[in-house]
Amino acid sequence: MTSAMPNGLPCKRLGVVAAPYCGATDRPLQRDCVLPISRGGRYTLDNVAPACGSCNSSKCNDEVTGWLRRKRLDERAFLVRHLEIKSALLVRFHAVPNAATEAQETKTL
Ligand SMILES: [Zn+2]
Repeated sequence: MTSAMPNGLPCKRLGVVAAPYCGATDRPLQRDCVLPISRGGRYTLDNVAPACGSCNSSKCNDEVTGWLRRKRLDERAFLVRHLEIKSALLVRFHAVPNAATEAQETKTL
């Protein structure tokens, strides 16, 4: 499979300051798949989000909504932050013809 994302999500360069799940602003972020690969998720622009280390290891392969509820995290805030990150990624990758096409194709799979 071809990944639409380069290695290492450049969160800082995207200007992402808050982790989308918990809103943490003071820790390094790791790349997470919102829908885990083990549940049929893919490395697409729609499905990746930066996560802080503690969210990433706690969420692991859980389905995101159930996990947010169990952790009593703010689902709405997550959706808004995730949308902002997706938009930033789309703008960024729009400038790269192959990456943009790839993302489109992966979405239809
Ligand atoms: Zn977190």
